[in-house]
Amino acid sequence: MIQMEKMKTEQLLETADKSVLFTAKRPNIVMERGKGMYMWDTDGNRYLDFVGGWAVASLGHSPAALQEALTHQSATLVHASPGYYNRPMIEFAELLTSVSGMDKAFFASSGAEANESAIKLARKHGAVNLDGAYEIITLTNSFHGRSLATMSATGKAQWKELFAPKVDGFKHVPINDLDACFAAVTNQTCAIMVELVQGEGGVHCVDEAYLFGLRKICDMYGMLLIFDEIQTGFGRTGKLFAYEHYGIQPDVMTLGKGIGAGFPLSAMLTKSKYDLFEPGEQGGTYTGSPLAMAVGYAVLTELLEQNLTNNAMLQGENIVSGLQELSREFPISEIRGKGLLLAFDVPEGAALDLAAICLREGLLINSPTPSTIRLVPPLIVTQKDCDEMLNILRRAFKQLKLSEASI
Ligand SMILES: *Cc1c(COP(=O)(O)O)cnc(C)c1O
Repeated sequence: MIQMEKMKTEQLLETADKSVLFTAKRPNIVMERGKGMYMWDTDGNRYLDFVGGWAVASLGHSPAALQEALTHQSATLVHASPGYYNRPMIEFAELLTSVSGMDKAFFASSGAEANESAIKLARKHGAVNLDGAYEIITLTNSFHGRSLATMSATGKAQWKELFAPKVDGFKHVPINDLDACFAAVTNQTCAIMVELVQGEGGVHCVDEAYLFGLRKICDMYGMLLIFDEIQTGFGRTGKLFAYEHYGIQPDVMTLGKGIGAGFPLSAMLTKSKYDLFEPGEQGGTYTGSPLAMAVGYAVLTELLEQNLTNNAMLQGENIVSGLQELSREFPISEIRGKGLLLAFDVPEGAALDLAAICLREGLLINSPTPSTIRLVPPLIVTQKDCDEMLNILRRAFKQLKLSEASI
């Protein structure tokens, strides 16, 4: 066995350069440990985490509930095979469907797989119930994942020409433009798929009237309405699911990120009447794996017992009023979002600099675009954490050198 001696930071970074395939620009630090709202790097620097593992660490870092579930389940049964039911699979499916207003659950490990599953179900519905219709309408600026089909569903302009040929059958229409969506419907359309708050696209919400219209179009033509709640679900927006803000139910909902609080887990939920797959058409080695199911059960239980959804709403309001105050002194505009899925705009290009200064000051924040800062902290965040975040942000703005042109 190759024994790795404990490497120092500099050596770790050199080794990363040598051995880790380049897919992302990452800062020159190496994360080593996490607890609650904080992570520590290999030099012992502490970071207040408002990226939250990319809207994943809903219960904070290394939460006790997840540790206990993993310890107990790994000593009981780790993997049973997708060919058998297992106890945690059934128990979690029952709990998840009972709180979500849906009937049936399919489990996978990543958001892309959950969406891939929703796309397949929509096409199956088209094949069985809509004379072979297969087209899916999605939104410009949306994000649905990085598999080939979910990249094709995604409405990112930069991805348009990438990895051609794309998976056929996706039409993109602008958000909150019901006429454009209506115009895109043909007898080949089997579904409309939307995020209720576009997370990666810079935190843009769908309007209530628009969503109501989408529901109506789908009902009129028998098409599926799919909500990608991978980022918005599990309490993130101050409701357990974002669709509760609108009072409009989907036919299919996908979940990921916060559902596993850091453990790879995702789900596609649907109604009984769309339980359409034949054996072999959908599955996966890790579908409903006992370890993941036990984690999902523990995370959801913790979320409900600690009323973290309510905390997301309260702390979201705190952050928004703090940002409004900061905006009197600094170039902050378009403060937006729901619950703890928040963003604001800064002058074009300043977001990356601001995030880099915050990192030096011990705060992790994310810039999904060069002019947008996104805040997606763990749902356990307290008023004190929010105050600390706002203080660091204030210090960072003071250091930020804005070019004359951008102010
Ligand atoms: C993150 C995300 C995905 C993709 O999830 P992965 O786990 O990265 O595959 C899909 N849709 C939305 C809305 C997301 O935020």
